[in-house]
Amino acid sequence: MPIVCLGALSLSGCAASHTPPAPSAPAPSAQPAASTTVAASGPSPAPTAPARPALSPAAASYADTARRIREASLNSNGAFEKLSYLTDRIGARLSGSAALEQAVVWAKDTLLADGHEQVVAEPVRVPHWVRGSQAATLLAPITREILVLTLGGSVATPAGGVTAELLVVSSFDELEARKAEARGKIVLFDHAMSKQGNAGTAYGEAIAYRVTGAARAAPLGAVAVLVRSLTTRSLGAPHTGSMRLLEGKAKNIPAASVSVEDAELLHRLASRGDRLKIHLTLRPQTLPDADSANVVGEIRGRELPNEVVLIGAHLDSWDVGQGAQDDGAGVVTVMQALSTLRQLGLTPRRTLRAILFTNEENGRRGAAEYVRAHQQELAQHVAAFEMDSGSGSPLGFMTDGEQPFLAEAREYAPLLEPIGAGTLIAGHAGEDVTALKPAGVPLFGVLSDLEHYFDVHHSAADTLDKVDPEHLKQAVAALATFSFIVADRPGDWRAPTPGVHSEPRRESPGAPPASL
Ligand SMILES: [Zn+2]
Repeated sequence: MPIVCLGALSLSGCAASHTPPAPSAPAPSAQPAASTTVAASGPSPAPTAPARPALSPAAASYADTARRIREASLNSNGAFEKLSYLTDRIGARLSGSAALEQAVVWAKDTLLADGHEQVVAEPVRVPHWVRGSQAATLLAPITREILVLTLGGSVATPAGGVTAELLVVSSFDELEARKAEARGKIVLFDHAMSKQGNAGTAYGEAIAYRVTGAARAAPLGAVAVLVRSLTTRSLGAPHTGSMRLLEGKAKNIPAASVSVEDAELLHRLASRGDRLKIHLTLRPQTLPDADSANVVGEIRGRELPNEVVLIGAHLDSWDVGQGAQDDGAGVVTVMQALSTLRQLGLTPRRTLRAILFTNEENGRRGAAEYVRAHQQELAQHVAAFEMDSGSGSPLGFMTDGEQPFLAEAREYAPLLEPIGAGTLIAGHAGEDVTALKPAGVPLFGVLSDLEHYFDVHHSAADTLDKVDPEHLKQAVAALATFSFIVADRPGDWRAPTPGVHSEPRRESPGAPPASL
């Protein structure tokens, strides 16, 4: 999951005019639809059943293909089997770890075994930060262990730790108002992630405390920072994530997350007038950059093989839990979507390229390196998809902000409705594919039900047992269907830029006209 932005967080920031589906939207049925034709089940249609919109000619031309993809996806446990290996046999995969490189080898071998073309591990140098030991003890007014998770990228305390009074604030405004009290203290940011509205939006509103809390408190003379975990449902686990360091010669201070429960306990004690004292030891290390790789594999296009539609997710994860939802679910959905199309013998007009990015969590170097290494080819990237918002049931897709092609893209939504994924809204496509935005590539992100995502996100609880295999099947169906259509349809949704495209656009006789 992203450093400063996650899937749906930008639903408010990037697309204020659109209301995302309620996070508690019911999961779609896992039942495969036998046909895209809906037959009335009784003598008269149920009065509450919404009428399915008629298919446009463009969508109708893909109805049979969509049905085949859906049935194959919903009948295969391949994605969950892949995820079981990635999580139980490889496990957490932070950049620089041996496990991430095992995952690179596994992904490449699996793409080859599934029969894909152009399977390559493309080298990327990645940051290598290791957690080391971490511990906190409340010394006054009571003695109590406090569970902490060092934030990714944090500097260390001295070997013997620091002992300091605690200053508890709820916001940056409160820190500003009490900045004279911060010198020599450990600052706790107890800012609660909102339980109202869309979970991604709430995450986006609260993330600044994790990312910039230490950078704000350090110039005030604070000696360390603790941050309330970004979740609304907590069972005592702290949640980690990236933080931003001050540049140049500015002094950085160590930072860690605490559980919601401990943040509230510390806040209650402070509110009663108690002076709180904490001993904190965080011993992370930043080592020299390490070798890693993006893994790619393709179905070469049948007519325009030099034009590319990307489907991507990130192979790395945080170093706690198993990286099952963030972003193991995305990785195996991408891999299985490509394999499902290959098994069905469906070769789109353009090349469909799976990419498993390295180092999304603490650097996004994989995405940056893909853009650098493929610079000459970017003008021929017709679209890029990303899945990085957990394993909740897939509700549809987000475009990167309001896009002129959104209305036309919605014509295909009825083909995704049998799996409950017919929502197409403006939002945020994903952190990795955003690197392709300057090249004008239309971006799409899988829109997942986020209701339970932040319960486990970046914590020890992000494990395989939280993943519903049926949701994975639905996600495979949604991604395989829509990415196939985008790679196959005669037109594309890039903004028309004369002279940019290396091959003339071609239209199939009798095919629906392209809009651009
Ligand atoms: Zn992620």
